[in-house]
Amino acid sequence: ETVINRIAAGEVVERPASAVKELVENAVDAGATRITVEIADGGKSLIRVIDNGCGIAAADLPLALSRHATSKIDGSDLLNIRSFGFRGEALPSLGAVGRLTITSRASGAAEAAVLTVTGGTLAPVRPAALNEGTVVELRDLFYATPARLKFLRTDRAEVQAIGAVVRQLSLAEPFISFTLRDVTGGGEGRVTFRADAEQGELLDALHGRVAQVLGREFAANAIPLDAEREGLHLTGFAALPTYSRGAAVAQFLFVNGRPVRDKLLVGALRGAYSDFLSRDRHPAAVLFIDVDPQRVDVNVHPAKSEVRFREPGVARGLIVSGLRHALADAGH
Ligand code: ADP
Ligand code: MG
Repeated sequence: ETVINRIAAGEVVERPASAVKELVENAVDAGATRITVEIADGGKSLIRVIDNGCGIAAADLPLALSRHATSKIDGSDLLNIRSFGFRGEALPSLGAVGRLTITSRASGAAEAAVLTVTGGTLAPVRPAALNEGTVVELRDLFYATPARLKFLRTDRAEVQAIGAVVRQLSLAEPFISFTLRDVTGGGEGRVTFRADAEQGELLDALHGRVAQVLGREFAANAIPLDAEREGLHLTGFAALPTYSRGAAVAQFLFVNGRPVRDKLLVGALRGAYSDFLSRDRHPAAVLFIDVDPQRVDVNVHPAKSEVRFREPGVARGLIVSGLRHALADAGH
């Protein structure tokens, strides 16, 4: 069991940023409206994710840490996946590669409970003090696998990767407030990213969030998208071709709310701007594609963020024509 967990763990948890991604996605799935991420030493010595979501009942804590135990799917429905989690792999994997402590209070429960896992071994569940939600703490990532530890990048690089993960997820969830704090060396630490919860209609909220994450200038130079093709929907914001963002690539793509990094979609985005941008400049956009889960395969490698559309041509056409129409409407 522990060996299996360690093997799986290597796939789910490549680096601190992938642990942060799994934990923040769990907090989103739990219906949290406030998520705080604290890290120390690039996440290598500490990752702590605090949420105000639905919590986990004391009796369910050991279950949450056993392999393939997920509360999010009943097994008959593997294709109909809307929430982030569906494999029940993340927590057991994290418990195999670090010292994992979960403190949680299920909504309505009289008290909270805490469970610690070290090297895959569960300690007994104990009562704990916590007002609401869940705190997941992962310490000493890869302490038992020094070979892995050696291949991690510098703290600085890990801090950057974690920042990118939190920013990316925050774009998909404008109604949730996010805080990222670096607590290296102890104490209160330093807030390195913060996005307050937006309100109102989704597209307005998203615009506000885009301004918080990518800057006011980007938001002011971005046009809203709303297109449909054969049941695939495109929303989001795309920068005007006249807007220059320097060298940094600002492309955020989501399929059914999940962040993806997909060649097909990136290529389509470039295609949409091909008349405007020279080869060395990258279009900037935050794109959401929503599609019936039956028509897209998200059940690929956990650490990668690829998707497979049943009709890739439709997805590409939607992006190219959706963006070109919006740009044309904006006078380009
Ligand atoms: P998955 O997300 O694929 O279901 P995980 O290993 O990430 O698998 O989590 C296992 C289970 O633990 C989840 O299905 C959920 O029931 C519970 N869980 C994990 N994190 C949280 C959280 N922050 N709040 C509430 N429940 C959680
Ligand atoms: Mg999960």
